[in-house]
Formats: sequence, C-alpha cells, structure tokens
Amino acid sequence: MNSKKKPQLGTQSVWAGEEASLLQNATQVPIVNSVSYGYKDLDEWLDVALGEKPGHIYGRNTNPTVDVFEEKVRQLEGAEAVTSASTGMGIISSTLFTLLSPGDRVVSVKDTYGGTNKIFTEFLPRFNIDVMLCNTTDHNAIEAEIAKGCKVLYLETPTNPTVKIVDIKRLAKAAHDSNTIVIVDNTFATPINQNPLSLGADLVLHSATKFLGGHADALGGVICGPKDLIDQIYHFREINGATLHPTAAYLLLRGMKTLELRIRQQNKSALTIAQYLSNHPSIGHVYYPGLPSHDGHDIAQKQMRGFGGVLSFELKENSLEAVKKFIPHLRYAHAAANLGAVETIVGPPATTSHVECTAEERAAMGISESLIRYSVGIENTEDLIRDLDHALSQ
Ligand SMILES: *Cc1c(COP(=O)(O)O)cnc(C)c1O
Repeated sequence: MNSKKKPQLGTQSVWAGEEASLLQNATQVPIVNSVSYGYKDLDEWLDVALGEKPGHIYGRNTNPTVDVFEEKVRQLEGAEAVTSASTGMGIISSTLFTLLSPGDRVVSVKDTYGGTNKIFTEFLPRFNIDVMLCNTTDHNAIEAEIAKGCKVLYLETPTNPTVKIVDIKRLAKAAHDSNTIVIVDNTFATPINQNPLSLGADLVLHSATKFLGGHADALGGVICGPKDLIDQIYHFREINGATLHPTAAYLLLRGMKTLELRIRQQNKSALTIAQYLSNHPSIGHVYYPGLPSHDGHDIAQKQMRGFGGVLSFELKENSLEAVKKFIPHLRYAHAAANLGAVETIVGPPATTSHVECTAEERAAMGISESLIRYSVGIENTEDLIRDLDHALSQ
C-alpha cells in the first residue's frame, strides 16, 4: 500500500486539521475563548504582529479553534488557502465587497440564495456595480454575458429550491478566457459531492451553517482558494468584523467529523425518496438532479460524486392550502427555514427562501405554490418514506 496516497474524504473529515491545535495531549481541539494573547517580550509580540512568527493577536482577526475549522475545510476542498466568517452571508458579502469596486460588473444567475440575491439587487447597485442575473441554466446566455466583460462570475449549484445544475467547468473556462474571477457557492453539494476548484473555479464558499456543521446549532461561513485572493478577503473580514466565534467553530468542527458519513446517507436517501415520490399519484413534478428526468442530470453526473440531500416536489393539488394540510402530518421533519441537518427539514419556498416574492414572481421563477423543499436527514430511508406515504394519504 502506498502510505503517501491522499486519505479519502471520510478520513479527512475526521482528521484533517486536527493535529495542530491539540493541548496537553488532549485528543480533541479545545475552544479557545480568548480575545487576546500574551507574549514573552515586546520583540516576540512584534514578530507575531508583523507575521514573521506564527501566533494570534486579537480575536476579531484569528483564533486557534477557528484555524482548525478553516484548515479542515481547506483540505476537503483541496485549496491553497482559506478564511471564514460568522455566517454564510458574512463570507459572501465580504467576498463580493472585497473583489468588486465601483464601475465593475458581475454576472450571476437568478436562482442564487435569497440573501445573495439581495446583495446583487439591493446593495451592489448602490455602489455603482452593475449586476447581470441570467436564467440559471441558460449556459449560452451566461457565456454571452461573460464575453461582454465582467470582474466576477458568481455561481451556485445545485440551487435553491429547484436544485438546478450549472456546468462549472464550461463556465469557468469561458470566464478565464475573459480574466474573470469565478466564485461557486458549494453549500448544497458539500466537498464530499463536488469540488468546484478542481472544475476550474477560483473560489469556493459555503454556508457552514448547513451541511458542513450538519446539526443546525451553529452559524458559519467559509471560503477557499488561492492565497492572494483569500488574503484580500480575510483582510476585509477582519476589518468589517464578521468573525466566526470559537464556540461556533468548535460545533462546526465536531459536526464535520461525520460529514462524509452523513452525506453518503443523505445522498442515498434523497435519491430513493425522489424515485418514490416520482411514482406517487398525489405528486406533481419532483426536482432532484439524481433523476434522469432532471434537466441538469447529465452535467450533475459529470461534476458531482453524489447528488446531495435536498430535493423538492410539487403536490398535484397545486395550492398553498394543500401544503398547509400536508406538512403537519409529517412526523419526522421539522417545518423550518433551514437545510442540511441530521433531522429532515421541510418547508415551502412560499414561506421560507422566497417569502418576499409575490405568488406571480414565484411563478415566473418556476416556483409553484405547492412546491415543497425537502432536506433529507440521516434517519433511516424506510422511515422517511413511510412518513411521506402516511402524510400524502391524509
Ligand atoms: C443558507 C445559505 C446561505 C447563507 O448562509 P447563512 O449561514 O445563513 O448566512 C448561502 N448560500 C446558500 C446556498 C445557503 O443555503
């Protein structure tokens, strides 16, 4: 056996980054709740402050527990450098405000996460930054917009809530022909199912709040990529102050030890459930990239190792009233505005991700009133199917 072979993702989820910060033979990374740090003398302090010696200065900048969390994600994404923020939106806004200046142009898609969409439509335009949001799966249109010139191409795949798939390799190539920085939000896929950097993206980011942490008990955001870009994003974040808390970093780190186990189970369950729902008489369309009927199935098969834990479906009776009747009958699903946890979570976009849109706007985005997002937990697949079967028969 070749002992130099890179460990597989399950092993990395457990071990990556952990060794550096262990204290007094502890086997677990400690939560370092210290705002500042002491030094032997002023010379040592100066060396640390100037970055000539490793060490920490102040909790808004860096922290030992946060470092370990970042390092684990860096290794799983196969990146040169990494930095983090207090939330997914903290890292997304830090990144966009770091890379974009007045007069710049950004190209993205219509189906990005709601908060990201707000940055594009409400905040960036105030700074005279031009934002072009293309139809998410219209690759020709996206390429045409990239060719007109842009500083940043911002992608998300799979998207929320209809799990659309964007071809990262194809669009990254188009972007690099135009000197554009490519950012991919990899929250839905996780590094277990997809590594955007290996497909040509420059930066990959996550809302760690979702699958990375996996237990719906901590917020966090993280971004990986080349050192020169990450250094700039880190610098903006240390100044804007959206710093990841060490306790949150610890919870995310602990959650991540089971990342590969969880994702494997969630991939398997989501596919089985998508197939089950596709054949159910009370169900309209089922959206899941693992189904051959899904528009993005071929691309997903090329760029993903698994199809993820989120699916969505429409009830045949297409009304919010029908959804209101259905959801309370589910025994094993939280009705909540979250996803990616060990528990199954269910929610209609009409009340969660797209609550601020009118019914007409949602319809224009292909989100019908009876669409339900279903984030599969780690429960046994058979129990989830029985649960859905029972609720659908009511
Ligand atoms: C939740 C989410 C975000 C935002 O993350 P927060 O941690 O809630 O700030 C960004 N992108 C995607 C795809 C998400 O699901």
